[in-house]
Amino acid sequence: MTDKSANAIDALYREVILDHHRDPRNFGSLENADAKVEGYNPLCGDRVEIAVLVKDGKLQECRFKGEGCSICMASASMMTEEVHGRTLPEVEETISGFRALMKGEECPLAVEGDLESLVGVRNFPVRIKCALLPWTTLNDAMKKAKEGE
Ligand code: ZN
Repeated sequence: MTDKSANAIDALYREVILDHHRDPRNFGSLENADAKVEGYNPLCGDRVEIAVLVKDGKLQECRFKGEGCSICMASASMMTEEVHGRTLPEVEETISGFRALMKGEECPLAVEGDLESLVGVRNFPVRIKCALLPWTTLNDAMKKAKEGE
């Protein structure tokens, strides 16, 4: 890959991240949530609240609120799209797959679409926590929802 095309891909990814940041999907409150969990990343100051609604063994709704950098907000927005409507084992798989991806480990998850744009974050170790915060918070929310069953 030449430098030029690498830059073009970077620009494309940046555009996808900014788009999610500007227009976050599934942003807002979830009144009938089974669990709500707040996550905080002191390194960057990102705050995110993840609310989940589980029904019939599926993650029926996943919404987020919060304030943070573009990486964190975009990651949260993409995550809610990714896990929406999935079965609970699928959600767990997606979370651990994304974690592996961010750590540069072998990833069992097929990373496609918008989520792919976050792969570049791996090159910036400080920002990995920003990208992971919504996912670790979702993981906690799923645990909490399970306990509340
Ligand atoms: Zn951040």
